[in-house]
Amino acid sequence: MFARRIAVIGTGYVGLTTGACLASLGHRVVCGDVDPAKIDRLRRAEVDILEPGLAELVAEGLAAGRLSFVVGAKEALAAHEDGAEIVYLCVPTPMGVGGVADLSTVESVIDDVRDLLPSGTVVVNKSTVPVGTAERTKELLKRADVSVVSNPEFLREGSAVEDFLNPDRIVVGCDQQDAAERVSALYARLGAPTVLTDAASAELVKYAANCFLAMKLSYVNAMAELCERLGANIADVTEGMGYDRRIGQAFLSPGPGWGGSCLPKDTSAMLQVADSADFEFRLLRATIDTNERQRQRIVDKIRLAVTGKRNGSLSHTRLGLFGLTFKANTDDLRDSPALAVAAMLRQAGAELVAYDPAVRSDTLRPEIGSVTVVDDPYLVGKEADGLVILTEWPEFRTLDWPKLADVVGNQVVVDTRNLLDKDVLRRAGFTWTGLGR
Ligand code: NAD
Repeated sequence: MFARRIAVIGTGYVGLTTGACLASLGHRVVCGDVDPAKIDRLRRAEVDILEPGLAELVAEGLAAGRLSFVVGAKEALAAHEDGAEIVYLCVPTPMGVGGVADLSTVESVIDDVRDLLPSGTVVVNKSTVPVGTAERTKELLKRADVSVVSNPEFLREGSAVEDFLNPDRIVVGCDQQDAAERVSALYARLGAPTVLTDAASAELVKYAANCFLAMKLSYVNAMAELCERLGANIADVTEGMGYDRRIGQAFLSPGPGWGGSCLPKDTSAMLQVADSADFEFRLLRATIDTNERQRQRIVDKIRLAVTGKRNGSLSHTRLGLFGLTFKANTDDLRDSPALAVAAMLRQAGAELVAYDPAVRSDTLRPEIGSVTVVDDPYLVGKEADGLVILTEWPEFRTLDWPKLADVVGNQVVVDTRNLLDKDVLRRAGFTWTGLGR
């Protein structure tokens, strides 16, 4: 294998995983980030995101001299003595004004590094960006001797390293064959199917996949509501659906609505892209609307379970929340449906106490707002008028539910993830309410 000189800009979930994994595959990688404190920690192999195996790979890369960290994008390029051959952009593309993808960070990095790129460099965009960004990148670079490749990333938070090293597929989009081949060669050892295409199609694959996943979740949430009205059981319905290989079991669990740092912004950006192409994407609009409605439906369920009335008041009630992250096995709180539901409950007047295995009470997380975070799950239950499961952390299943039943004021559990064993809960004295049953 030919070891490449690589610069990775941005050391978040995607950038750090990309850098550490490419170093583990034998390449020489310099990662640059604007956050000096983060770079300081990374130089000591301290990884501050919850990703199994990532800290080990970082430590290994540092020890082998194949991985290093610098502050700044320019500096990442300058750090390669013989010049970087491949530059990965792994910076945020958050939801901007009107729902469009905000590309300002991507553009400012391009601006920064433009004049430092050695002739023949390949700029690889791993950030999720709308169709046309590769073209725009070329325009901004103003460099005929530099190629631009779209190489969207599909890793999932919580299993980022595993997903990066065992991908379902690699997508490489570029109209220059040599650049496309150079990038796909980096992943050759992973043995994944590779889709070689043009940049616009590669950019669209990522949005198409994420919107499809969001649609699947909205569909199952709608189906769960229908099950409640028709007296059917969503668990059996989805099991029966999922055995169909055209459908599959994944992404068929009802919940408090989809969220996280990707699906909300990507569905919204896709809608804007469709709009600008004069295409009314009704299916996607309905997917988003269904998701927004789901949060209200969860609040209504909690209101009914806790007060016994559809229009009962949650004012002055004390609710115990289990889970704040957007899904289990991550510490990411961005656009978490748990936090969206919590904000609605606060607005309805409830006092909230929460426990999450990945969120300590002494960490400053502004996203959490006025929810009191505790480090002991049993404190969540203290005198609570109701308990709500919001994230599907497996450890909630094995809590001592009889012990919780002793400390709560009202033995009510609303399980928005259908996570708990309802018979265990009932034996402990709780009234259990799930979704779609
Ligand atoms: P992140 O917020 O975890 O990390 C982004 C990093 O970029 C941060 O460390 C930040 O300090 C750094 N940064 C910001 N501005 C910079 C600049 N000017 N120069 C250098 N570094 C800078 O983001 P992420 O979750 O890794 O996502 C990055 C991109 O990848 C987004 O477009 C996202 O949609 C996409 N993506 C994310 C995931 C995921 O699960 N998180 C999966 C696939 C794709």
